[in-house]
Amino acid sequence: MDLGIKGRRALVCASSKGLGRGCAEALAAEGVDLVLNARGSEALEATASAIRQAYAVEVIAVAADITSEAGQAEVLAAAGEVDILVTNAGGPPPGMWSDWNRDDFIAAFDANLLTPIALIKALLPGMMDRGWGRIVNITSVAVKAPIPVLGLSNTARSGLTGYVAGVSRQVAGSGVTINNLLPGLHDTDRLAMLDKVDSAAQGISEEAARAARTATVPAGRFGTADEFGSACAWLCSDKAGFVIGQNVLLDGGAFPGSM
Ligand code: NAP
Repeated sequence: MDLGIKGRRALVCASSKGLGRGCAEALAAEGVDLVLNARGSEALEATASAIRQAYAVEVIAVAADITSEAGQAEVLAAAGEVDILVTNAGGPPPGMWSDWNRDDFIAAFDANLLTPIALIKALLPGMMDRGWGRIVNITSVAVKAPIPVLGLSNTARSGLTGYVAGVSRQVAGSGVTINNLLPGLHDTDRLAMLDKVDSAAQGISEEAARAARTATVPAGRFGTADEFGSACAWLCSDKAGFVIGQNVLLDGGAFPGSM
């Protein structure tokens, strides 16, 4: 299927690795020019170069912390006018309810709530003026089924979900869609880090922690960044213009609800 976005321009945040990179690659495969971002320049430049070679699209790489105001300004200046925005950043650390103080919540809100809101506010007016735009926020299954050790993530991402629910409907008539993609368990560095934490906390091997996590997924495996990227590219496509304010779950069947 031709997704109808060849020649469009996308900003994909936090995209040198993992799910962000999966989204960037899937958009590049559709002929979308990219602005990529991550903090570490080595992996970012390697990803940018691999995508240029594989898909012959324009790729600009901006090494900056997207959760800081300075980083956002730098990325937005390099991005200029974009048709597609994919927001993403690292997830907050796991812990217990008694661990989290005000500073921890503020850091999580900055990364996973106020950063996507700032980027949306900066780029929405241009998309609305041009009568076409796609915004996809990478959030988490945690907004549908909160994960106890990820309380900071549960809290910040639930706030973003509420924000998107309202704003997506306020701007729907302008040709701009805003939706959230909710990853369940995907095989990335983030998951490897969580396996390490479980291994240390439970006194089991990382392999055992991974096996226990896999057993929670009816599909019997973790998702891949490629699969996640494909879903993102479709949500960003011309074909998905009637999808407004939705929370699309990709979790191999792990969430047990009927809807
Ligand atoms: P990942 O494999 O660890 O990749 C994270 C990417 O984001 C890297 O490119 C990293 O590069 C970049 N990044 C992190 N913090 C950044 C910042 N402040 N500014 C700019 N770039 C930043 O993580 P992932 O698994 O793809 O996860 C992506 C998001 O989905 C996270 O918020 C995660 O919590 C959420 N999520 C993931 C899963 C899963 O199973 N993987 C499930 C639910 C939710 P640098 O480190 O060089 O900056």
